[in-house]
Amino acid sequence: MTKGTHRHKVTHTDTRAFSGPVRAQGQNQAAHGNVCFIDHCACGATRKTNANAGQTERGAWVEPVPRIVIRVPSTDTGETSTQAVHRLMFGKGKP
Ligand SMILES: [Zn+2]
Repeated sequence: MTKGTHRHKVTHTDTRAFSGPVRAQGQNQAAHGNVCFIDHCACGATRKTNANAGQTERGAWVEPVPRIVIRVPSTDTGETSTQAVHRLMFGKGKP
């Protein structure tokens, strides 16, 4: 759940092959081995549910990892953006 009153709501569901348990505790071994439904929320969160022969094992909603954006001030030194990031993160010197 994100901050505020947002409640995750399934916008669409993908079906994948089973690839492993979807929760650390309370696993339902009988639900393993067939398919995994992946529910998607508009906010980017996903929730996996293993299903097999009428048995299910539902995981928790997992929110997307925020992207880290590094803005590098423009310079007139001719350095590349990679060099600029290196300078900002590690100090002087070239990568
Ligand atoms: Zn959501």
